[in-house]
Amino acid sequence: MNSAWEIEGFLQIKNGVLHIDGVSTIRIAEKHDTPVFVFSEKRTENNINRLLKIGDVIDCRVKVCYAAKANSHKRILETVRNAGSDIEVNSGGELKMALDAGFVPEQIIFNGNSKTEKELAAAIEAGIYAIQSDSFYELELTEKVARNLGKRANVSLRLVPEIESETLHGLQTALLTSKFGMMPEEALDAFRRWSPDDAFMNLCGIHLHIGSQNPKSEPYSQAFLALFQNLVKIFQETGHRLEHLNLGGGFPVNYLRDDSNAADMPPSQKELFAADLEPSEVVRTAWEIVKNSAAEADAIKLLDDITLLVEPGRSIIADAGICLTKVRNKKERPIRTENRKPETQGPALSRDTWLLTDAGFNILLSMETYKWYYHLVSAARAGDVHATPYKVAGPLCDGGDVYFDIEGKNRLPDYRLLPENIEVGDVLALFNCGAYSVSQMFPYNGRELPEIVFTNEFKAL
Ligand code: PLP
Repeated sequence: MNSAWEIEGFLQIKNGVLHIDGVSTIRIAEKHDTPVFVFSEKRTENNINRLLKIGDVIDCRVKVCYAAKANSHKRILETVRNAGSDIEVNSGGELKMALDAGFVPEQIIFNGNSKTEKELAAAIEAGIYAIQSDSFYELELTEKVARNLGKRANVSLRLVPEIESETLHGLQTALLTSKFGMMPEEALDAFRRWSPDDAFMNLCGIHLHIGSQNPKSEPYSQAFLALFQNLVKIFQETGHRLEHLNLGGGFPVNYLRDDSNAADMPPSQKELFAADLEPSEVVRTAWEIVKNSAAEADAIKLLDDITLLVEPGRSIIADAGICLTKVRNKKERPIRTENRKPETQGPALSRDTWLLTDAGFNILLSMETYKWYYHLVSAARAGDVHATPYKVAGPLCDGGDVYFDIEGKNRLPDYRLLPENIEVGDVLALFNCGAYSVSQMFPYNGRELPEIVFTNEFKAL
């Protein structure tokens, strides 16, 4: 019987060993030591093809702009570009990375809430598709920089239309309480201030991003509707005919394909980590709602020449990457029963077995900041029953560097289930680690950063 986490042609068990794209993870760990991140270019391409299908379900041009912040490794950017995606960057640094990876300016949009004059100048000089402006102040700054350069800036305005998603608070970004964007009324003022034929400011689009790992489709429909209503209002009140609408990213990844470790997780957290939306279905539904909402035929006509942008990160790269880590230390401890939470008793143990790995939150920061769940299996015994509970922790000199939740947020399970008798030297694999990991790594405790390898490199072995 297959394990719930197996994905045909990608993550599979062969002779008991975890294979990624047909390559043995044990072989990879032997060649590169651990921790090591392993990426599948094939899986990345499949994910992009899935997103490009959005273009098949609506009657306008679609641009998929990969959110480089999710993982800006050069080879991943090149893979993404070759697979037909455009790109969203968040700083002058990411803009340079995108250009170095071969993206042409027409493929680049530039987000961010604290852009410097230098960054704006680089974007305007390059002539990118859109600078996504965060505030009225930034619009004025953009105009100043464009005027100095004698060039016209393509600008899209980021809105916060008060749309709530059922994701984590820190990941919600379309609310007034988030730090991003401007009120729709401010945006309208901007469209009044800069006319469609302004020499330096080409206000050509509007943008929003409701958050990351959004478990439900409805907020996307609300978001698309909000974009459409703003588009109509902007046209009616200022005469600007927008060229694009940007629906943002945030399509979820199912981190709980195997939910055997999630028995203690509260249902809402489980729903979040197990979210599984089909992006093209989400957009098809939203598109229908928008079309049905348009009372006047003239309004819907405004969509005729529109390009719809989406800027997904996680759904392109999260499940294309795994992290291999080794157990470097093991110990037993008696359990202080008074410390055990009644609702998360876990197995009736008298002792905890601790496994100390070489993968800490310095390479998987979300495990600390958001108590993010990454499913863990034994690489050499991937096909064995995973039912023995272990306390698992990383190597950092920080008591919070653990694979469970010591702050009582109940987002992570208290124990990880692995085969019995896991020993020092055994390789473990963490799944779905491709997004918001490599791009956020730091060498805390002077630890060397892991290598990043690609399954293609092993094909010849
Ligand atoms: N767009 C913006 C503005 C973002 O802030 C983010 C991530 O936070 C993304 C796109 C990508 O989100 P995700 O990786 O969830 O698709």
